[in-house]
Amino acid sequence: MSNHQPYSFFQSVERSFDKAASFTKWEKGLLEQIKACNSIYSMRFPVKMDDGRIEVIEAYRVQHSQHKSPCKGGIRFSDEVNQDEVMALASLMTYKCAIVNVPFGGGKGGIKINPKKYSVYELEKITRRYTSELVKKNFIGPGIDVPAPDYGTGEREMSWIVDTYASLKPGEIDAAGCVTGKPVTQGGVRGRKEATGLGVFYGIREVCNMQDVMEKLGLSTGVVGKTVIVQGLGNVGYHTAKFFRENGSKVIAIAEYEGAIYNANGLNEEEVFQHRKATGSILNFPGATNIAKSGDALEMECDILIPAALENVINGENAPRVKAKIIGEAANGPLTPEADEVFAKKGILVVPDMYLNAGGVTVSYFEWLKNLSHVRYGRMEKRFTENLNTKILTQLEELTGKTVSTAERNIILHGPEEVDLVHSGLEESMIAATREIMAIWKENPAIPDMRTAAYVCAINKVGTSYTELGIFP
Ligand code: GLU
Repeated sequence: MSNHQPYSFFQSVERSFDKAASFTKWEKGLLEQIKACNSIYSMRFPVKMDDGRIEVIEAYRVQHSQHKSPCKGGIRFSDEVNQDEVMALASLMTYKCAIVNVPFGGGKGGIKINPKKYSVYELEKITRRYTSELVKKNFIGPGIDVPAPDYGTGEREMSWIVDTYASLKPGEIDAAGCVTGKPVTQGGVRGRKEATGLGVFYGIREVCNMQDVMEKLGLSTGVVGKTVIVQGLGNVGYHTAKFFRENGSKVIAIAEYEGAIYNANGLNEEEVFQHRKATGSILNFPGATNIAKSGDALEMECDILIPAALENVINGENAPRVKAKIIGEAANGPLTPEADEVFAKKGILVVPDMYLNAGGVTVSYFEWLKNLSHVRYGRMEKRFTENLNTKILTQLEELTGKTVSTAERNIILHGPEEVDLVHSGLEESMIAATREIMAIWKENPAIPDMRTAAYVCAINKVGTSYTELGIFP
């Protein structure tokens, strides 16, 4: 809890939930059940470090809801991990999955370590031990609970998890589906790495394509020419910046914890990333102005502000100074409820985390389906589609007496590869979710902001699911 934050993270999720619940028809008891974290596993285990010392590791896995199985959500490695945070993040996963129609309950895991302070071998031992603790308590499995990457974890950790799980469950044919975000060689799906950033882009692009919404904000439609500020150059921030830049927006500032950089003509995230890798800092990037205090970048003039790092970075204290017209929550919980109130009053549009960053879990769902079906996307239809397209195009050319250029021909004939299908499924999910939330908001103008509309959408879906399960006689 920060000085400006009178509520814990979980309490602030509960507050947002309660605010939205008043716009729904569900009875109090059912709402209480939707809100509660069903299972909380808090664990401590010893790991021998490289210098022979034994360290007791504090870790968690929370399963917020089993209204659909398995539970789903990432595992984060951070010094800030605590039970309240993991509970909040697990709850957000339930709502996130419901909104994008991913048939999972919410879950989340956390290990209270700063991964930078450990050797790779130590991290491997911690991850494998954590996994075996989960196996012992039946807290992991393709039909039970499926972890994924989150802050401080990535493909490497997911590989260790699947390997540990598979070795403890010999012969389990679907073992690869016990975790997502794996490298492609270990049962991962193409397109997972960039999924969250791409989903953030698709979600905001859809909002920017809504003429009435843009008119209210005094902006033109479309993303072309819009100025964007990104906080956090991790996997999510990097890819979000990349897709905005590639689609004609200008990323004018990028912030990291050591400071921020600004260039009115736009920054290239890959060059900034390489510069940071080489020099150890984002600062002093050629052609850009240094901003010594990283937080100042959040308060600069821009069309779209993307907090893509950690929670509570925009709160009651700094929110009144934020000048962006649209805030896209790429991180989980970057705004506090106080910040929400400030922005609702000022007419700043907050595109909320639990749907905007759902790209990661959406593509995780595709990965899990791939693991259960044991076949790569596109394998069955790629050649068939290309043959069919060739026949159609040949017929058209014969009938019209005209021929298309080689470049056009290649585009028309191309049968879907795995990455094409994954991106297309993600685009469809994000567009549909954006429209659904906006329709709820429009139907009920008393709903104060898009986050509340997103919660209403989630509560209605989870409420329907519980009711249809018929467990409340
Ligand atoms: N950690 C990501 C999230 O917060 C992804 C979760 C997943 O893929 O299961 O949504």
